[in-house]
Amino acid sequence: MLWALTEARAVLGHRTAGWVRTMASRSLLVAPPAALSKPLFIPSRLLLGPGPSNLTPRVMAAGGLPVLGHMHQEVYQIMDEIKQGIQYVFQTRNPLSLAISGSGHCALEAALFNLLEPGDSFLVGVSGIWGQRAQDIAERIGARVCPMVKAPGGHFTLQEVEEALAQHKPVLLFLAHGESSTGVLQPLDGYGELCHRHQCLLLVDSVASLGGAPIYMDRQDTCGVLRLAQPAWNGVGPAGEGSGPTARLDGIDVLYSGSQKVLNAPPGTSLISFSDKAKNKIYARKTKPVSFYLDIQWLANFWGCDDRPRTYHHTTPIISLYSLRESLAHLAEQGLENSWQQHREASEYLHTCLQGLGLQLFVKDQALRLPTITSVVVPMGYDWRDIVKYIMDHHHIEIAGGLGPSAGKVLRIGLLGGNATRENVDRVTRALREALQRCPRSKL
Ligand code: PMP
Repeated sequence: MLWALTEARAVLGHRTAGWVRTMASRSLLVAPPAALSKPLFIPSRLLLGPGPSNLTPRVMAAGGLPVLGHMHQEVYQIMDEIKQGIQYVFQTRNPLSLAISGSGHCALEAALFNLLEPGDSFLVGVSGIWGQRAQDIAERIGARVCPMVKAPGGHFTLQEVEEALAQHKPVLLFLAHGESSTGVLQPLDGYGELCHRHQCLLLVDSVASLGGAPIYMDRQDTCGVLRLAQPAWNGVGPAGEGSGPTARLDGIDVLYSGSQKVLNAPPGTSLISFSDKAKNKIYARKTKPVSFYLDIQWLANFWGCDDRPRTYHHTTPIISLYSLRESLAHLAEQGLENSWQQHREASEYLHTCLQGLGLQLFVKDQALRLPTITSVVVPMGYDWRDIVKYIMDHHHIEIAGGLGPSAGKVLRIGLLGGNATRENVDRVTRALREALQRCPRSKL
């Protein structure tokens, strides 16, 4: 410091050197925030909304590990393990499978930015907020968007999709497998085959359903439901050959999911996989995708999905990748079929308890109910906000209201991953019963 002042005096003269000396002591425009001098406080809550869910101890422990460089061999190894985990949970052999550094929306943007070019025809099933979001993003790209619109709670039949494919001749169809805003589980069996007959690719959002309801990326079949009776799956089944009479060989072309639901990992990373058909479309693009950050050709290289040496693309969220790796390892150890069964049993128990309270389930057809997120009709005379607030204030449990087109119509209760237990169902049922007794009710 003394040297710096002497040097400054010599070079700049005494007046300017004085300015140099007083720089550090001049008052700053913005003082250190008093709020930051207080210790960080995080209350303990049971997260039974539509996500995020509570982290498992194993995932939390991963979050406390030391950071390494994003291009260190050990991190590449972890990325390779995540890729294998994605192939397992998606039931796919696609080499182009990777994690996106961003939440579920980022994965949706990665899919649309890379698959659509301006003017491309895009068919989108809109029966809740996720179709709306896909429509919005595709419009920004300049695609010709053809929405198939249903009231919240609806789903899209094979026949409806076939008619729309014939009418609009799209290059891509979007469906949300788990429409978390309404609690609907969209059937997928046969949709890939249908799309391919019409030279269309199938893009599916499984952010809310992955790990909670059967999904086979490489071929859609109903065998998974039947196989639930045999929890000791030997790893050959759905991805192997000849697994049942109803097997269909055409699968989903792009599938994505998030970290913060059944995986019980922190929000901020997402999973995505591309079939060869989808990859070929991307690599034959006439224009560059509008986003550099989400350019799949760059990401494929950085994730070691092509034959070239890995090149720096962006600094990945290393700690979140540790957590994601651990959450995938947990699901692989538990076994997908056991996880599906756990969610089915917990949600059926929840449905019984809710009906026991006199509440009505929003999705009437049992086969179309999403096992991870249950939507309940807001009971007559109540303001849904009062119920959600009561349960948070008195029981430290998060449940949620509706979202987008279901706002004001439903309450949503999530049983995600490790949170899908009978004990949690009992806790939220008790809290709801009390809320219904204590919250104000308008006279109708
Ligand atoms: N799709 C579905 C079905 C979702 O439930 C969500 C999150 N609620 C998203 C996409 C978007 O994910 P994120 O909030 O992580 O961006």
